Amino acid sequence: MEHLTVKGLVLRETDFGDSDRYISVLTESGARIEVLCRGVRRRGGRQSNAVRLFCWSELTLYHARNKYTLNAAELITSFWGVTASMETYAMCCYLAELTAHMTDTDEEQPAVTRLLLYALRAVAEQKRDPVLVKAAFELRLMAETGFYPALTGCAACGGPTGEDVWFSPRDGVSRCTACAGRLGAPGYVRLLPGTLAALAHILQCEIPRVFAFALGGSSRDQLARICEEYALCRAERGFDSLNFYHSLFP
Ligand SMILES: [Zn+2]
Repeated sequence: MEHLTVKGLVLRETDFGDSDRYISVLTESGARIEVLCRGVRRRGGRQSNAVRLFCWSELTLYHARNKYTLNAAELITSFWGVTASMETYAMCCYLAELTAHMTDTDEEQPAVTRLLLYALRAVAEQKRDPVLVKAAFELRLMAETGFYPALTGCAACGGPTGEDVWFSPRDGVSRCTACAGRLGAPGYVRLLPGTLAALAHILQCEIPRVFAFALGGSSRDQLARICEEYALCRAERGFDSLNFYHSLFP
């Protein structure tokens, strides 16, 4: 049996029995681990609050036979500000579920943890448009987990796409205007200038700056649609939390 201390963000919590809880944790190094918290609800107070959804905490764990069990927990930061509205809460549940799907125990992806922490902070502080936080998170998460979209080169002729880009969220590739005209472009979206600029910003800037942009009107709507479709196609599944989020906007 091994003792270890990790910082981690709680992505999911499931209470069971009289006083136990099971949590999925995204560690500082970007691995996702499952932790059994025995008796934590009976212990109450600080221990219990540190292993709630959207809490960033220092966890002392036992590790044996590929299983993690909680020994002690200390809250560092809680992002409960995201629960200020049902819409932002549902959206952040989806970001957590998407992150859980794109990470696993054996792979360390520290950029993913930083990205999610910045996203939750942007939503909790209510200084950013949640629709844009969602879109930027979806796209950058995919880029950080091995799915970087091709926006600058035409997949048909190999030339540069320039300012007029036709992008396929399903395939993650682009066509130049000439090829889109010549070959047709079913499933491709002609990117508005604002959308293209936002996509470049999200993909290229340092992680602390990913959510620091504004966009309105039809570019905002187009960015939201493209990033969601791109993420769902890479994840190869839908998410209950996302369906619930959309049900809040009839
Ligand atoms: Zn081309």
